Amino acid sequence: MPTVAIVGRPNVGKSTLFNRLVGKKLALVDDRPGVTRDRREGDVQFGGLTFRVIDTAGLEEADSDSLLGRMRAQTEAAILEADVVLFVIDARAGVLPADKPFAELVRRAGCPVILIANKAEGGAGMSGAYEAFSLGLGDPIPFSAEHGEGVGELHSALQATLPAFEEDEDADNPAGRALKVAIVGRPNAGKSTLINRMLGEERLLVGPEAGITRDSISLDWVWRGRRIKLHDTAGMRRRARIDDKLEKLAVSDGLRAVRFAEVVVVLLDATIPFEKQDLTIVDLVESEGRAVVIGLNKWDLVADQPGLLKTLREDCTRLLPQVRGVAVVPLSGLAGEGVDKLMKAVVDAADVWDRRISTSRINDWLSEATSRNPPPAVSGRRIKIRYATQVKSRPPHFALFGNQLDALPKSYTRYLVNALREAFDLPGTPIRLSLRTSK
Ligand code: GDP
Repeated sequence: MPTVAIVGRPNVGKSTLFNRLVGKKLALVDDRPGVTRDRREGDVQFGGLTFRVIDTAGLEEADSDSLLGRMRAQTEAAILEADVVLFVIDARAGVLPADKPFAELVRRAGCPVILIANKAEGGAGMSGAYEAFSLGLGDPIPFSAEHGEGVGELHSALQATLPAFEEDEDADNPAGRALKVAIVGRPNAGKSTLINRMLGEERLLVGPEAGITRDSISLDWVWRGRRIKLHDTAGMRRRARIDDKLEKLAVSDGLRAVRFAEVVVVLLDATIPFEKQDLTIVDLVESEGRAVVIGLNKWDLVADQPGLLKTLREDCTRLLPQVRGVAVVPLSGLAGEGVDKLMKAVVDAADVWDRRISTSRINDWLSEATSRNPPPAVSGRRIKIRYATQVKSRPPHFALFGNQLDALPKSYTRYLVNALREAFDLPGTPIRLSLRTSK
């Protein structure tokens, strides 16, 4: 679902706009004091548009010294997360100096903005609306959140700017949106054999009429009622055979497969130990931000199965810290064993990759994690992390706000990533962390 953030200085009417969009007076998402009141979120159905809206107005009621700092951090987080920003000013008051820093944040973020000159009911505040041009955020929409004026114009503006979301396309399908999966690995790891096995089994399960559609890059498949789009690795093999620069091609094809996928199965030949090329593939998957599952193929050829599994699991922990906790599934594409376990791991990995954690839980975690192991002092001043939030999923992406965060040592951010992974059960996915220093 796309995300819309309502941004502006205190008292311009953000809450009223939020309530109008969400269509009911929402209780605060968390009714505990402190950071948890900082933000409200709601799902909006607005004349055929569906989006999530974030409001930062809850903060205005808090009276704390760090109000403006926190408000700024909140706003930055919301903007980072948003596909579209609704920037609200009070048309009757005109453009005030207090509007400027918020406008600056929005401008810098460079995401689409819809400028709303609020409190303009019955043609009031026209001069304020004109002043709003000076913010450099485009044409203002004269609006009244209180009286519902300007709603039609807001709808058109949202329609023009909101990104189209794939989810909607398959929303009516009981099996849901197709999960995109790629199987990558060295030549001869057994990718084609595994894919043929998957598709072959499906034929038996659902009968020939379900068929298998083949487009240029993907194969549609259904596993236990769940739609899967498999990257057509077999097609890429055929091309590779007729090319001299096999190595180079394999890399660019691997990249294409990884970019296609949401979950990438890195298939290893269990009879050959980890090689540099396997690690390069996992690095690629990590840098592209995809979820990972490791498949240990040709398990039928392994004599000491428990022993090897233990060794390879340890290898994964040691060699692949960037996707710590990754599922490692032994299988045989040839014999058709372990394929079901592999697919279950794939679906689980997609869920983890997709997960959203509430801001209040993250901040509870943050205070616990930073008191257990406080950030170091830099040139006599202690680094302070004030606030954290998840700004995106797929993969999970968190933002931390505080003082001097650019001075945080790598070892400490590693600690935080590992702690996040553990606290919120996020195995086998890349985790992104953005550090924002606020004044
Ligand atoms: P790809 O290059 O990764 O697509 O690998 P292929 O699917 O072409 O398989 C390479 C070779 O490994 C073929 O000879 C397969 O028969 C064999 N192979 C694939 N999977 C298995 C398996 O699970 N067990 C065994 N014993 N051999 C396999």
